[in-house]
Amino acid sequence: MEQRIAVVTGANRGLGLQTARELAMRGYRAVLGSRDMAKADAAAADLRAAGLEVHATLLDVRSDAIVETFVSAVKDEHGRIDVLVNNAGSIVEADLGHGAPPSTSDVPAEMILRAFDNNAVGAYRLCRSVLPLMNAAGYGRIVNVSSGMGALNEMVDGWPAYRISKAALNAVTRIFAAEAGSGVKINSVCPGWVRTDMGGANAPRDIEEGAAGIVWAATLPDDGPSGGFFRDRQSIAW
Ligand code: NDP
Repeated sequence: MEQRIAVVTGANRGLGLQTARELAMRGYRAVLGSRDMAKADAAAADLRAAGLEVHATLLDVRSDAIVETFVSAVKDEHGRIDVLVNNAGSIVEADLGHGAPPSTSDVPAEMILRAFDNNAVGAYRLCRSVLPLMNAAGYGRIVNVSSGMGALNEMVDGWPAYRISKAALNAVTRIFAAEAGSGVKINSVCPGWVRTDMGGANAPRDIEEGAAGIVWAATLPDDGPSGGFFRDRQSIAW
């Protein structure tokens, strides 16, 4: 079988980099999408030094033009895209520099729009560009790295921009799953609370534990699920 090509967005650090590492360790050719090429080149060089097949390509998920250029470049260089992990994400409320969880009185509408653009529309841009390739090829795995903080089922106050953006990302999963052809699977995954720059030092999970569910969804067998929301390989409520 030909080597599978896996694209991971926001892969210069954190869960994205760990996911790329683990996919490469499983024999995938990993493409790190990053808006910071200095960091991405350094991360890719580290992984290559460990014998893994990893490439770095410029990607800012907030730009239609850059996403289109990125997908064309990956397709031209590597032939196709078998796996897409929409991992890039941020907590825009971090800009407030709050100790306490920000509430709606702290978060102007502009922040909601920025979070929505980065965390939900960013994945929409990638899915819109990549899904037709996967449908044509008859194979694909897309993982949208979501969060329990976006689950309507357990929605509470605090961090409204992040929560709303991840709820919207889950809608992106459902909509593209409904358009996915045979052989293509699209799921949302919550990695749990993980010790990364975003998760902070008090998070209970290490990065391997966090990436495990993402890698599982990226490597699902042909009879695996699609259109679901998972944590620790278990279905969770939207
Ligand atoms: P980090 O903050 O450690 O890493 C985030 C990565 O996303 C960085 O590489 C960052 O790039 C990249 N990124 C952000 N915005 C963009 C963009 N517009 N274009 C390209 N890359 C971008 O976070 P984590 O690794 O912890 O988080 C990864 C994903 O997991 C996120 O989607 C997050 O919401 C989700 N998640 C994390 C949890 C946790 O506890 N850590 C819990 C639940 C979900 P740069 O270095 O340039 O800033």
